[in-house]
Amino acid sequence: LIAFLLYLFYLVPPIGQLVQGAVQLQNGLAAMRRIKEIEDLPAEPVSVAAPAGSTPVGVRFEDVVFRYGDDRPTVHDGVTFEVPAGGLTALVGPSGAGKSTVFALLERFYEHQDGLITIGGRDIRDWPLADLRSALGYVEQDAPVLAGTLRENLLFAAQDATEDELRRAVTRTRLDDLVARLPEGLDTAVGHRGVLLSGGERQRVAIARALLRRPRLLLLDEATSQLDAVNELRLREVIAEVATETTVLVIAHRLSTVTNADRIVVMEAGGVRAVGTHAELVADDDLYRELAATQFLVS
Ligand code: ATP
Repeated sequence: LIAFLLYLFYLVPPIGQLVQGAVQLQNGLAAMRRIKEIEDLPAEPVSVAAPAGSTPVGVRFEDVVFRYGDDRPTVHDGVTFEVPAGGLTALVGPSGAGKSTVFALLERFYEHQDGLITIGGRDIRDWPLADLRSALGYVEQDAPVLAGTLRENLLFAAQDATEDELRRAVTRTRLDDLVARLPEGLDTAVGHRGVLLSGGERQRVAIARALLRRPRLLLLDEATSQLDAVNELRLREVIAEVATETTVLVIAHRLSTVTNADRIVVMEAGGVRAVGTHAELVADDDLYRELAATQFLVS
């Protein structure tokens, strides 16, 4: 019996270790299989084909069909429009028409089910995601100011920008007055722990932040908050100036922005209803005339 117990004592732990080893081996093999599967996936297209530099890019939607899920309603039901490279294009239309969805597709947060989307003449699906994200700048509607100094806010996504580039972005976004007013200039704490900025200033800070990344296409969801006359004028000037250097596609909530736009795309119920300048659309499109008379003027 003693011999049997000794036998168990010596043998059982090695059996346990063996079982454990076998499990580890199995896990290792499974991991290797998964690595192999990942290796076998088609490679992301290499970035050499991406247009070089930071030249503005245009956008084309051609018969784009999109829904957020198989059981969700169709949001884009054959959307077609073109955004020329450089200049200012505005998207307008009633709530739910699918304007923000255009941005979501361009950023490739979702994939369209049918049709074609090109950026810079190239199918959006062929853009390596990292190149696409660095080509796009996005300024959201009520852009948040981060805790920290104004300088930190501006350099948040462009740590390697030079002092000159920073100054230039400040000037281009008409933030010089603000900087001059702040007790420690660019090094003043802003946001909820420091000086509070107005809605218009916050959006210009967000535009400056985006510009420092030298986007080839700037997606701008215009602030809906009430702006005073000075801030409204400044925002209009800034958008117009930025549009001389890159492509700006703006979801417009203000008449002052659309009247300045080179092209306005009127969306309605998942499609594009009309395209034109402000004067053309006022003359030709009932919905646009109505939007201009109510939505833009009151927002
Ligand atoms: P608004 O001016 O009110 O922002 P919009 O024209 O930008 O409207 P979208 O936000 O693109 O319209 O929304 C179009 C439709 O898609 C709406 O019916 C909306 O409820 C739906 N939708 C938007 N985002 C999502 C999402 N993430 N998941 C599911 N449905 C969504």
